[in-house]
Amino acid sequence: MPPGEKMPDKDKEMNEFMEWFLTDDEAAAPAPPHEITVMKKICMLGDPGVGKTSLVARFVFSMFDDKYIETIGAKVTKRTIALEHIATKQRFRVKLMIWDIAGQKTLDFIKPTYYRDAEGAILICDFTRNETLVNVSKWCQSIQSVCGKIPVVLMVNKSDLNGTAQFTSIDAQKYGIGLGAQVFMSSAKTGDNVEAAFSALGRRLVKNYIDMQK
Ligand code: GDP
Ligand code: MG
Repeated sequence: MPPGEKMPDKDKEMNEFMEWFLTDDEAAAPAPPHEITVMKKICMLGDPGVGKTSLVARFVFSMFDDKYIETIGAKVTKRTIALEHIATKQRFRVKLMIWDIAGQKTLDFIKPTYYRDAEGAILICDFTRNETLVNVSKWCQSIQSVCGKIPVVLMVNKSDLNGTAQFTSIDAQKYGIGLGAQVFMSSAKTGDNVEAAFSALGRRLVKNYIDMQK
């Protein structure tokens, strides 16, 4: 970047934290005393079939299955990510409780129960269906009307199907800016950008946590 040029906020956040992998044993064991553990509920939101369940399976279990099993109600899966705040060297363990919410409209009336106490959300749309991108703002409003202005990231999923895409990544960026969301072109099938999107939300949650302590 040329000297004097302002770094975009999202890049600044990326550079504020260092991330490392935990082995399964490390993630299961209690954190060392100098590490701060924060537990955060996040919700997966988007129209039916965009890949919410597949993205959780990829992120938590490193797997992908072509079969489409409709999610009924909600399922909660956990994964811990480890971050170090570079300026203070403070280490964090972020336990993400990932709520996979059914996209069915008929379940509208129970959604507030699922949203309650969520501190972040992953909004998901399908690269091959334009209406799923248009609907992302409804999903965002629906959770923020219950939880306040919680951080969100936008995943444009099925990026492996770019031959049949119905919009461009630039279109998605515009939606993302409107929602204050960082945008990731992701694929649950190839794994592309899946870790990156969850980590970005994790960083924002830890940043909020640090700001609240000040
Ligand atoms: P949900 O209703 O949002 O939970 O969507 P699912 O995770 O059940 O996925 C719906 C369908 O899309 C399934 O057949 C998945 O295999 C498929 N799918 C999900 N993610 C991807 C992806 O990144 N690429 C491709 N090609 N298919 C995907
Ligand atoms: Mg599902």
